[in-house]
Amino acid sequence: MLINANKMTPVFDDNDTYAVARKRMISEQIISRHISDKRVIDIMSRVPRHEFVDDALKDQAYTDGPLSIGEGQTISQPFIVALMTETLLLSGAEKVLEIGTGCGYQTLILAMAARQVYTIERIKSLGLKARTRFKKFGLKNIVMRIGDGSLGWAEAAPFDRILIACAAPQVPDIFVKQLSEGGIMVIPVSTGSGHQDLLRITRKNNSVFTENLGACHFVKLVGRHGYQA
Ligand code: SAH
Repeated sequence: MLINANKMTPVFDDNDTYAVARKRMISEQIISRHISDKRVIDIMSRVPRHEFVDDALKDQAYTDGPLSIGEGQTISQPFIVALMTETLLLSGAEKVLEIGTGCGYQTLILAMAARQVYTIERIKSLGLKARTRFKKFGLKNIVMRIGDGSLGWAEAAPFDRILIACAAPQVPDIFVKQLSEGGIMVIPVSTGSGHQDLLRITRKNNSVFTENLGACHFVKLVGRHGYQA
């Protein structure tokens, strides 16, 4: 992996050991399921997902599902990462808030697709590992903090986009308040009896529009405006 010193975006080694697996992931899991945003496809074609999991799981990094990242948490399925990123309609100019940094894979993709990313992780050991990865890849437009992301990030608000990577009991008002006019949020919300729906919330003319993108399965948002620990 080389870093292009003049740019914020890293230059990855496209010929790494996992290049074939990554190509297959893009065609069989992403394009075949109708993800069509060229920027999302291009970025996910390049980001080495295997660098975000433990050595023992590297060979599974491009398979069609979530994987353990330790502490009872998971890196989301590649298709879900693509869907959530595409749902945010990123042009490259946006300030984004992400809750649930986890291993940092989704964060890195957001940082390449948007202008600035603020990300919060509750579990210190995961956050510190993710921060090491951001440094390794030379991304300078990511600010990360450890803490309760269910409170949002008031000092840095408003955000053009918000991505919640863990399931909330309902849409916390505080996130809507931190979304700018015309802003878009993607959030998994519990619908009862163990089911969750992925929602796109758009704030426009001081109204809030909700679209249901379908069933999903995320770990829980644990915190003041989420579930109890
Ligand atoms: N996009 C991440 C998803 C990780 S799973 C990845 O691909 O790795 C969701 C993450 O949300 C977990 O790491 C979990 O610790 C974190 N989380 C749960 N509640 C949180 C909260 N209140 N604030 C910040 N992070 C939270």
